[in-house]
Amino acid sequence: MGEIGGFLRVHRVGFDKRDAATRTGDYEHYFETQPDAELREQGARCMDCGVPFCHLGCPLGNLIPDWNDQVYRGRWREAIDQLHNTNNFPEFTGRICPAPCESACVLAINDDAVTIQQLELGIVEHAFRAGWIVPEPPATRSGRSVAVIGSGPAGLAAAAELNKRGHRVTVFERDEGVGGLMRFGVPDSKLEKWVIDRRARLLEAEGVVFECGVEVGRDVGAEELRGRFDALVLATGSRVGRRLEIPGSELAGVHQAMDYLYQRNRAAARAKGEEPWAGAPDPGEEISAAGRHLVVIGGGDTGMDCLSNAGREGALSATALDTYAEIPAAGRYPSTPWPLQAKRTPTTYALEEGGERRWGTQALRLEGMEDRVARVHAVGVRGTSTSDAAPVPGTEFSLPADLVLVAIGFSHLEHEGPPAELGVALDGRGNIKAGTYATSVDGVFAAGDARRGQSLIVWAIAEGRRCARVVDRWLGGEGGPLPLGAETPGVPGETGILPSA
Ligand SMILES: Cc1cc2nc3c(=O)[nH]c(=O)nc-3n(C[C@H](O)[C@H](O)[C@H](O)COP(=O)(O)OP(=O)(O)OC[C@H]3O[C@@H](n4cnc5c(N)ncnc54)[C@H](O)[C@@H]3O)c2cc1C
Repeated sequence: MGEIGGFLRVHRVGFDKRDAATRTGDYEHYFETQPDAELREQGARCMDCGVPFCHLGCPLGNLIPDWNDQVYRGRWREAIDQLHNTNNFPEFTGRICPAPCESACVLAINDDAVTIQQLELGIVEHAFRAGWIVPEPPATRSGRSVAVIGSGPAGLAAAAELNKRGHRVTVFERDEGVGGLMRFGVPDSKLEKWVIDRRARLLEAEGVVFECGVEVGRDVGAEELRGRFDALVLATGSRVGRRLEIPGSELAGVHQAMDYLYQRNRAAARAKGEEPWAGAPDPGEEISAAGRHLVVIGGGDTGMDCLSNAGREGALSATALDTYAEIPAAGRYPSTPWPLQAKRTPTTYALEEGGERRWGTQALRLEGMEDRVARVHAVGVRGTSTSDAAPVPGTEFSLPADLVLVAIGFSHLEHEGPPAELGVALDGRGNIKAGTYATSVDGVFAAGDARRGQSLIVWAIAEGRRCARVVDRWLGGEGGPLPLGAETPGVPGETGILPSA
């Protein structure tokens, strides 16, 4: 349980961040993994509470106090085994999860939360260095086969779990490399791509087959795959970006943030000489913030990732307009008290690097010059989020902008392609209706953002794991026990007391 009263002696020491001016000159992680001795001290802070709310905060049901204690005692091998029981990819969540577990940590009521995320990262990287994480192919094969469409965290987790149960798994991915938004949305400064490749190589060595550059619905039919495989998992993400519906949004120089981020991630791969992505062409017009004034509409993860890329490109200015109100001094919005996940963090890595976030603001119209965007006109708003934002008269302002990126979220998955071809039923929000991960079509299952709507990597992994158990049962396997953090009966997508992310 960590050290008795350790939290009174040891204060939280967060991730060691690299100097902001240095890191904007490269495409490497903006933080360092902490030394083992520091991690052991931090593990001492865990109180092993009677009711570990961190379990409930984590969609994976990670047994956090257990591995905090194992780190404190230097039992790294036991810690990674425990961690891998509930999370296939701690090296992803350890780097880029917004850590709802820390929001739910009991210490966070009146002190700084335990550094759960960096302990998680420390455990998995210690294990890789020690050579403990090696391919573990299944001892026997079931004779059954599954096609997984989409190689984001949901597809990878489903593939890993189904392969463990002896099924032959092929992952079809339309992009040139695996990882989904982790590869083409999240910048290298948050998640270097060798981290994804290292895990993908392990999965391959365990028997998972990856077919990249294959778009299901174009290069191969979804119905054809249904004939070739015993089951199909749709893990195609939620990729239809919300459209900006204000005057001027049709001007040149206005783009969806994801189009920019795909190009920047490919540029980083080229700069690092990473193959095969280094050679991938960028379809469409080149989008660059170099020498430009950038305004991002939207202040969430995607907006921040745009700012950080723009800094590395040499933008003249980079500002994100965020309808959310500034976070109160108490550190949380009244609508998300402890133990709920915080909706925004006061600062992020991108703001430390020179980007600016203007809280409580909303774009009204875009002004053009010779058909290209030149200024963004905006207004201050009252309220806490997009749903209740109301303009405040007299707070109008404008900013120069020769590049505008729209980062206001995603509506739902793409309906054309596999969902339309298979005729799977959709829910009221336009995502795949699959309360128990089984869709309306026999033998077809769904997981991740495609089922849940835009969410987080930790949720995608949790969904992939749960979906795999349902598929395994459908294929005649045992399915295994209901996973920790399993859904509350009757409330799909929710764990315990905490609402979905
Ligand atoms: C810019 C950005 C930054 C983010 N940062 C964070 C973060 O820091 N932390 C966090 O927790 N979450 C973050 N998220 C959210 C997180 O990335 C997603 O919730 C998560 O990746 C969803 O996983 P998924 O597997 O469901 O879908 P995706 O990651 O979207 O993967 C779906 C995959 O399916 C493939 N595909 C789609 N259709 C087909 C087809 N017809 N044939 C073959 N392949 C197909 C796609 O190419 C893609 O690779 C971020 C999202 C964005 C956009």
